[in-house]
Amino acid sequence: MRKSVVAIVGRPNVGKSTIFNRLVGERISIVEDTPGVTRDRIYAEAEWLTTRFNVIDTGGIELGDEPLLVQMREQANVAIDEADVIIFMVNGRDGITGADEEVAKILYKSNKPVVLAVNKVDNPEMRENIYEFYSLGFGEPFPISGTHGLGLGDLLDEAVKHFPEKVQEEIDDETIRFSLIGRPNVGKSSLVNSLLGQERVIVSNVAGTTRDAIDTPFTKDGRDYVIIDTAGMRKRGKVYENTERYSIMRALKAIERSDVVLTLIDAETGIQEQDKKIAGYAHEAGKAVIIVVNKWDTMEIKENTMKEFEDKVRSNFRFLDYAPIVYLSAKTKKRTHTLIPRVVEASENHAKRVQTNILNEVIMDALAMNPAPSIKGQPLKIFYAAQVSVKPPTFVVFVNEPELMHFTYERFLENRIREAFGFEGTPIKIYARKRK
Ligand code: GDP
Ligand code: GDP
Repeated sequence: MRKSVVAIVGRPNVGKSTIFNRLVGERISIVEDTPGVTRDRIYAEAEWLTTRFNVIDTGGIELGDEPLLVQMREQANVAIDEADVIIFMVNGRDGITGADEEVAKILYKSNKPVVLAVNKVDNPEMRENIYEFYSLGFGEPFPISGTHGLGLGDLLDEAVKHFPEKVQEEIDDETIRFSLIGRPNVGKSSLVNSLLGQERVIVSNVAGTTRDAIDTPFTKDGRDYVIIDTAGMRKRGKVYENTERYSIMRALKAIERSDVVLTLIDAETGIQEQDKKIAGYAHEAGKAVIIVVNKWDTMEIKENTMKEFEDKVRSNFRFLDYAPIVYLSAKTKKRTHTLIPRVVEASENHAKRVQTNILNEVIMDALAMNPAPSIKGQPLKIFYAAQVSVKPPTFVVFVNEPELMHFTYERFLENRIREAFGFEGTPIKIYARKRK
């Protein structure tokens, strides 16, 4: 089931990023200590009542030196292309400006639902200012204040009303969905072609749930797979499609719909900062991850070449210590056959449920071997553990006092769980909860 997408558009300074941060605020930082993961997001998950959805702050899509008007137009186009509902934001203190009308003109042409938000209505007296905005032609204006967090509930109620009926993907649960992410030119398209070239493509390029996502199903050895494309097969040459943030946004959308994410590295150019950032997104999303070192054909292979490269990968991607590394060449197809078995393994581990009694034996053995250290004289007591969910496997450990669970001890437990059950390819999460 895919989440609905809300995009915020409007001319600069109306308060888009303020509202975006309010909507996604608490959820933004998941793994504080992941190196190389930037926090300045334009695409993130938000929640209203029981509905989860994704929000795009189109104001964050910067286009270098392009004139303001071009920027606004491109941002509105992103909203139209990507969103299910558009929040068109104006400033209640300024009245309608020429720039608002420019944005409105682009939105008229789309058939996406538009909800009009009048921001900076910081107090009830200012509510009178909103009536003039009826003339923009998007129906009732919703007064809000980003600064004070006012009116957001009514605005979101309205936005949620326009969400599409839940889009059930016509793919059964046995199907393994995976995507390929990585910098431009690491070889994503080449690897997709090389994988598909080996297999019989049942249906070619079935359009996905969003207009522009191209999902390609294929079958191999009786198993069904879907490759979720991020490589930008649709190359329309729009300005925004060439920006880094846009490609990150595309990658995030694909990651979210995947079970397994293949994060590609170019052996020829070596590991770069951007590689870490991109891989960080897959990790944070809690997906199974495989590190694919492509263009292995360009390496002059000596005795230690693979070991040396592996050391580099491991030291640069510490947060992905669970991810297997596959070395291959999309071009010569060398070793590409080794990839799919790892995808299957990672996917199965990502969805694996362990038996509670065995889990507790493992935890108790771990405790006996290495008792939890006391913090300020207070010992951590562990009573019981349970796996509460899958994708990724998530464990709750009931303890006397959660604050006594030091992360190094949590790490130790994680390693014991991994040794006992084999969770190669998938992150696992452990939470300490107070026993009631
Ligand atoms: P964006 O360019 O549309 O993303 O706008 P920003 O979110 O960066 O906000 C522009 C300015 O408006 C900032 O100085 C904000 O602090 C301010 N601002 C945002 N929301 C409100 C609001 O509800 N009331 C007032 N008075 N100022 C606001
Ligand atoms: P994308 O931008 O990540 O989709 O990358 P492409 O698949 O378009 O590949 C970028 C370039 O790298 C192209 O010129 C490919 O021919 C080349 N390339 C891709 N895979 C390999 C490989 O395994 N070995 C070599 N030597 N070149 C490759």
